[in-house]
Amino acid sequence: MGGGNESRSDYSYPRMVSRPVGVPKTSILKERIGLFYNHGQNLNKARYSGCPHVQLSVWDAPGQERPTFKEATSHEFRETRIGESFGPSWSTHWFRVILTVPTDIAEDEHLELHWDANNEGLIWSEDGTPLQGLTGGGERIEWVLPKSFCNGKEHTIYVEMACNGMFGNAPDGKTSIAPPDSNRRFQLAKADIVSVNWQARMLQVDMHEIGDAAKELPENSAEQNKALSVAMKIMDTFQVDNQESILKCRKLAQEILGPNVDSHRVYETGAEPVVFGIGNCHIDTCWLWPWAETKRKVARSWSNQCDLLDRYPEATFAASQAQQFKWLKQFYPAAYERVQKKVKTGQFMPIGGSWVEHDTNMPSGESLVRQFFYGQRLFEREFGARCRTFWLPDTFGYSSQIPQLCRLAGMDRFVTQKLSWNNINNFPHTTFMWVSPDGSQVICHMPPSETYTAEANFGDVKRSITQHKTMAVDSTSLLLFGKGDGGGGPTWEQLEKLRRCAGISNTIGGIPKVKLGNTVDDFFDRLSSKASEFPTWYGELYFELHRGTYTTQANNKYYNRKTEVMLRDIEQLATFASLSTKKYQYPTKDIDDMWENVLLCQFHDCLPGSCIEMCYDDSDSLYAEVLKTGNKLLKELYELSGISDARPATLGEALAINTLPWHRKELVEISETEVGVACGDGQTLAVRTFHVQEEQPAVTVHETGTNSFVVENDQLRVVVTNGVIVSLYDRINEREVIDKGGEANKFVIFDDVPLYWQAWDVEVYHLGTKRSLQYGSTKIHEKKAHKVTLVTDVTISENSSLKSYITLSASLKGQPSEVDCAAEVEWHENSKFLKVEFPVDVVNTEASYETAYGITKRPTHYNTSWDMAKFEVCCHKFADLSEHNYGVSILNDSKYGFATAGKVMRLSLLRSPKAPDAHADMGRHNIRWAIFPHNGSLGSSTVRAAYAFNNPLKLCSGGEAALTKSAGCPIKLVNEDESASLVLDTIKRGHDDDDVTRHEGLRVNKGQSIILRVYESLGGHSKGTFHTKFHVKRATQVNILEDELCEVSIRDGTIPIKLRPFEVATFKLEL
Ligand SMILES: [Zn+2]
Repeated sequence: MGGGNESRSDYSYPRMVSRPVGVPKTSILKERIGLFYNHGQNLNKARYSGCPHVQLSVWDAPGQERPTFKEATSHEFRETRIGESFGPSWSTHWFRVILTVPTDIAEDEHLELHWDANNEGLIWSEDGTPLQGLTGGGERIEWVLPKSFCNGKEHTIYVEMACNGMFGNAPDGKTSIAPPDSNRRFQLAKADIVSVNWQARMLQVDMHEIGDAAKELPENSAEQNKALSVAMKIMDTFQVDNQESILKCRKLAQEILGPNVDSHRVYETGAEPVVFGIGNCHIDTCWLWPWAETKRKVARSWSNQCDLLDRYPEATFAASQAQQFKWLKQFYPAAYERVQKKVKTGQFMPIGGSWVEHDTNMPSGESLVRQFFYGQRLFEREFGARCRTFWLPDTFGYSSQIPQLCRLAGMDRFVTQKLSWNNINNFPHTTFMWVSPDGSQVICHMPPSETYTAEANFGDVKRSITQHKTMAVDSTSLLLFGKGDGGGGPTWEQLEKLRRCAGISNTIGGIPKVKLGNTVDDFFDRLSSKASEFPTWYGELYFELHRGTYTTQANNKYYNRKTEVMLRDIEQLATFASLSTKKYQYPTKDIDDMWENVLLCQFHDCLPGSCIEMCYDDSDSLYAEVLKTGNKLLKELYELSGISDARPATLGEALAINTLPWHRKELVEISETEVGVACGDGQTLAVRTFHVQEEQPAVTVHETGTNSFVVENDQLRVVVTNGVIVSLYDRINEREVIDKGGEANKFVIFDDVPLYWQAWDVEVYHLGTKRSLQYGSTKIHEKKAHKVTLVTDVTISENSSLKSYITLSASLKGQPSEVDCAAEVEWHENSKFLKVEFPVDVVNTEASYETAYGITKRPTHYNTSWDMAKFEVCCHKFADLSEHNYGVSILNDSKYGFATAGKVMRLSLLRSPKAPDAHADMGRHNIRWAIFPHNGSLGSSTVRAAYAFNNPLKLCSGGEAALTKSAGCPIKLVNEDESASLVLDTIKRGHDDDDVTRHEGLRVNKGQSIILRVYESLGGHSKGTFHTKFHVKRATQVNILEDELCEVSIRDGTIPIKLRPFEVATFKLEL
């Protein structure tokens, strides 16, 4: 056979090489991508500033007033121009902007107003509809001009300028949590009509995503190489200001992005989504700005979204916090109407079911209930449906009872995120079943992109898989994107980026399929069938950061506890009053207003103490309002029973008001010289004389040496030497409570310099800086037959000092005795932490802390990093360290921070962070606590003592008539087990009863009913029986929204109940 045919035509490439071709180094090509943005391409076709196209005039609102549209626009406006500065911080300036679109751009594709004064703003239509928010500083500065403006005529809009940035007014050059500068000024830098080169703008986004793909896809993967090569082709093709080249580049980009990225059709692939994109704007209800500014942030952000949801039909937006909806309706009815329309179309999703995104560590169980109760009611009333998802992306730890309460509030889904900020241990799950101590569970999802305000970058979508920890069961996840806190939620750019991420996954893959247009409920609907396969997490979700928030801003925490107690009293007394006489109308509106204010102050920066000073001026005045209303209501209630809240002149007139659901017997001081014993189990307790003689006092005190005293009653003997308790001897149980050589009720101070978040964090290393304080000599402060108090002056520093009081009162037969302690502190420190410690002779590897509706146990050792991370924890009314047969509880009436290390218990008293409030906690504080030793392990004696410590009997005058009138106990819960662990915590009227309801469009129940909320407080199955004087027609168990669950039986006027360990059960008695 002959040789090959030289002229064969089927070879696919020429025989002769035409040029050398090499393989450039990938890292250099990747770096080249950054240069694309340096080329100086003008993204806009034309820009017009100043007269005659943009005519500006302004009216400056006085002081820090934030007037309404109507008020503001009624004033004279003066001429202004670009370049003028406005201020100071927190002031408001209204601009009238008259726009005339130049005829030569009138037909252009896309016109915008660009407004940038480096502060937040809101664009209003001429007739007063909020149109869109502005963030400033280059962020969200564009407003799309309506086509109707392109007719060559003048069109007026208004811009309401707020002199603050999205994170308030931190001084230039300092961190955003620095206390605000009160004198910032803001220059109006831009107020221009701009014709946008839309294709150039879109090419920028194309390139951004292709560049990210080239940089972030796995090195040397086919997908990465493809992305890189397309990026290079685009850069080779691109020519500045050459529209044809721009179009060519966009065509090239389709090799990676596919053909559909210019519309929502890119999501219409039929494939199951893996990442569900949900827009949101996390508006902190107060933080680095006051509440008044939040109201405007809501109007700005949600107006943006109503506009964007029109332009991007695939987008959905979730907004939480009933309070913010209420504000919008109240102050911005036109904006609210837009929101309502978008809720109807399903694009705008009210979510969360709670009043605000609240702290869950410190609010009482009942407060947590009311967060859901008032939240769900608003959502139902306004939008015809309750929420199924509890939405709390940003809070500083999660009470173990949340799953149970969610289920009782009609919510079976929970979204959060904050544990990704843990600074010690990595939380092990993404989607999991979170279990309350009663066994209730809720499915919880923590978005693996580890943020609730993602920028919607390629990397966020990628991390939704690479950081997903539960893929063995299900690999889907939520991607919560959008700018928070006045950034206004998702931007057009983020929505464009996500279209491209979807395009990439359609075309070359390498990242998970991202989808917009679904709801949070759609996401969870698919997961419920796998509930039994997801990993479980039992008990609290402890947050390993922000541990200082249990202590910072002591006054706020004090008022939180006091108002919770007050509301409990009022609801109970008003319930019985409204049922006993027609003359008394249950004060629903006042109670609702009080609750809404208390719930608002439980917002996750407010109660934790991480706001600026202005916010605490706000909360102080709200608490003052709550107390004022509360005192008015109590006075009315007392008067109704013929009781005066004035101090009785004599013992004969004295009676004590009690709202605790068990028998009490306590000393009450009538006057300096007279003391009585109040005893009984009704709402008003009779006061008898306390028989004690001067010569035979019930409490004795002896000075036994230099600066050493022994104080003793029938049960306890306390030795105070040099101001601290060196011995506390339980005479009944013959047991020494204080550890050998230990000094109890001893004030100690720590250096408190966290790494960054001052008001939020106390770091583990503060423990190494403990120092004792300088104690002066101890004196007998009072010495009465029934009570002895010692006082010691303690120097903290040159500027700060405290008076330490240790009191022992007479013990009453059959009643446990406690050592009452108090401190008056003058506190003027910087970065110091004051605590009081109790080394006790009790050994246990776990201590118990009262938390919402129960007890949380935490280690007293540092075995593992998880144990040590809990070096500072949250407690409510008590912390307890017990052996099986004996223990010590420390009670308090306004504190939330505690630590137990080995045998040392430590109550946290005061911190002194300087950011974001430069004056946090400075000044005078009165603090109370008590040392309560008890026989046996932790039991109902502690639970009840802690209630009593927070709810002291209220001494009133009324005499015999008043006593008979309100004697006895209209409803009583008798514990049938000796643990006596069932607590009847709340008594209130049925909220929808026709004599209670505010007729807000929700259901109305005929007749009268009583709501009783009981919880099991110690962790065991327990039985009890309600006894009531009322004629009960029907009794049901209801959820915390007061919906019926099941009927319960009534036997001879008694209602037997049974609860699981730590169960919260609500009953409704229909009369
Ligand atoms: Zn937040």
